[in-house]
Amino acid sequence: MIKLPDVQPEQKVLDSLTAFQQEIDSQDGFEAQSALAKTSFSNRNRKGNATFDEVKKALTHMCSGARRCVYCEDSVADEVEHIYPKDLYPEKVFDWNNYVYACGNCNGPKNNKFAVFRADSGEFQAVNPPRGTLSIKPPNGEAVLINPRLDDPLEFCMLDLKDTFKFVIIKPKGSKDYQRAEYTFDEVLRLNHVEREFLRQARQEAYGDYKARLREFIHHRDVGSPQVQLDSMIDQLRKKGHPTVWREMQRYHKRKILAQIDKDLDDLFDQAPEALNW
Ligand SMILES: [Zn+2]
Repeated sequence: MIKLPDVQPEQKVLDSLTAFQQEIDSQDGFEAQSALAKTSFSNRNRKGNATFDEVKKALTHMCSGARRCVYCEDSVADEVEHIYPKDLYPEKVFDWNNYVYACGNCNGPKNNKFAVFRADSGEFQAVNPPRGTLSIKPPNGEAVLINPRLDDPLEFCMLDLKDTFKFVIIKPKGSKDYQRAEYTFDEVLRLNHVEREFLRQARQEAYGDYKARLREFIHHRDVGSPQVQLDSMIDQLRKKGHPTVWREMQRYHKRKILAQIDKDLDDLFDQAPEALNW
């Protein structure tokens, strides 16, 4: 999971969202707002709704590859997902900044899972209601979940490119940041989960694919292939799925830890340092 590019839909789309949101905000009390947020969102988030057709188009620009989920980077993104769940935060149900495009495999289990560091005590508190019960207004506090619209998830974790292709938390154990990373990567999004072994495999395959593309680029550059062809190769690489894997390949080289695990790839980056900025 990477920090997402800052994409904005047209102003008229933002204006419609604001108008939809006003209907929710004008309800009296949290329960009424939460109930209306749910029905109003599902009524509008449909094919043919002009606003949501545009919302989805804009969200697609945040996705890698062929509209891959922003969380797992693997499956097709086909659900408009609320970072702050709509039941718990009805005041954000039509907030553009609260949307990402995700797959059902990520979004389903995430559901209403959410936690805050309480403003009054700083304590971690899960705020999702037990299954089958109604949401109650969460206490004030800072979100625990890492928000890829705002935060850089790769400041919290590193992908192990040597063996496991799993995320390893790089923040000090016991710190708030460690808690945020554990909650986000393991508990809510399950990006390392054994049931999602296919994600680990897909990251490993992406690594091989990125490396092959880099090698092919260097070959074409060195035999004097036309610039237009080279540009197209760079463009294709940048649009591939699993962008986290590519970012990590670059980061390992920049941190001088790549040679220990893959001397061959390290040499490729030395031959094409321009690739460190792709
Ligand atoms: Zn996903």
